[in-house]
Amino acid sequence: MLQVVAESELQELPISSDDDDDADRTDEAAPSHMPVGSVIAVFEVDPYLACPINSCSNKKLVTVLQNELYVMKYSKCNGTFRASTAKTYLRVVVLLNTENGNKKCAMFLPTIKQVFESRGIDFQTDFDKTNIMEAIMKIVPFEIRYTLRGTTIVNILMKRK
Ligand SMILES: [Zn+2]
Repeated sequence: MLQVVAESELQELPISSDDDDDADRTDEAAPSHMPVGSVIAVFEVDPYLACPINSCSNKKLVTVLQNELYVMKYSKCNGTFRASTAKTYLRVVVLLNTENGNKKCAMFLPTIKQVFESRGIDFQTDFDKTNIMEAIMKIVPFEIRYTLRGTTIVNILMKRK
């Protein structure tokens, strides 16, 4: 069942890193201890241009005017990029039904790709917002085992169908 939740009940989720390559990954709970939840709704599909520097963990670039030219910039590393040199990344904001109620969470490219592949869908990273939304809506709701870091789903396990 899809569920409708008023936007006012939910806080805004900032763009954050997928943190997928973090060293503390090995500290994560064993699969059997990962809680089970269901992704029951999708709020937002957000393909974006990210800083291509590895240590910047796929943070979103913002457009700034610099010397009368528009460039894409990430303020932490001060890197400036053109769209062609930036990395295309993807964030999807979903409603996760957990043991403790519903939670608005973000999923990033690696976990999104994993969801599609578990359904035998070859995930084409054309980063078209509408195509990705349509594809996700066909498989919602789906059950996952997950690890959360803040409001980001950083690690999932899915049953193959
Ligand atoms: Zn950077």
